[in-house]
Amino acid sequence: MKINELFNTKELVFSFEIFPPKVTSPISTVYNTLEELKDLKPDFISVTYGAGGSLTDNRTTELSSLVKEKYGVESVAHLTCISSTKEEIDIILDDLKMKGVENILALRGDIPVGQDPKGEFNYAYELISHIKNRGDFNILGACYPEGHVKGRDFKEDMLHLKLKEEMGATQFISQLFFDNSYFYNMLEQKEKLGIKSPIQAGIMPVVNKNQIERIASLCGAHIPEKFIKIMNRYEHDKDALREAGIAYAVEQIVDLVSSGVDGIHLYTMNNPYVARRIHENINTIINSINNKKVI
Ligand code: FAD
Repeated sequence: MKINELFNTKELVFSFEIFPPKVTSPISTVYNTLEELKDLKPDFISVTYGAGGSLTDNRTTELSSLVKEKYGVESVAHLTCISSTKEEIDIILDDLKMKGVENILALRGDIPVGQDPKGEFNYAYELISHIKNRGDFNILGACYPEGHVKGRDFKEDMLHLKLKEEMGATQFISQLFFDNSYFYNMLEQKEKLGIKSPIQAGIMPVVNKNQIERIASLCGAHIPEKFIKIMNRYEHDKDALREAGIAYAVEQIVDLVSSGVDGIHLYTMNNPYVARRIHENINTIINSINNKKVI
């Protein structure tokens, strides 16, 4: 199923993101996670593509196919282009098609430090256009409520988002953020630019202090004072910190859903316990919203 259709039938689309195990570990190490996530009945599960993605290390196709065939959940395969030739991209696209994966989150990927990108696709919109021309897939793109960490030119980013839509992206998933006001500001800009595709809000429940420090440096998300207080207060109590992190994510989601967001995409970090706890907290709200949709 091409998942852009979900937005016609559901008021709120709810999905999870997982990452493949390292190539040195058996793929079965992710089975337990998938078993638990499947029971939460997400609309889809997306599978990340390794940074610097080499063809031989690519487990995204295998896992995206498994999510669909073994666990009966629609899947989205992430695909980056900056470190791949057109031929390599085409091999992956052929494989995805053969394995029945119909949805791709098309990304540029981070430019590898100290390496020249292979350079055939320099931006995500070029990859989107290439995939679109093949006609086989529904295409998603990424967006950044606080601007992309490297450029930080939010207005430029939004113009490039429009370009991704024009090239064939039918929906977007946002970078994680901890302050909803950035997301609402992005929606206003989207409206002004006439971008029609729905945007799912990317939410990452933070359950340990190292995680937040790493995330903040990687994607540059602003950490609100309220959140810093939580981290400082519970940093030496693992369980309390996890519970506070879950509560914070739930509060963010309730606010977003109440404001009419198109969807929520939960960065699960392959942690089914946290995904389940969040799901328990918001399931009634999601059902209430979706039952109201008049088709
Ligand atoms: P682009 O849309 O190409 O944008 C990158 C930068 O280039 C932006 O600053 C943009 O404004 C600028 N730009 C775009 N078009 C033009 C143009 N025509 N001229 C000048 N500048 C332009 N990374 C992975 O390696 N694997 C993953 O699985 C993965 N999953 C992700 C999932 C989500 C939801 C998100 C938000 C990010 C993910 N990333 C992943 C990270 C992503 O690859 C990086 O953020 C990357 O640096 C940018 O990718 P993009 O597709 O947004 O790039």
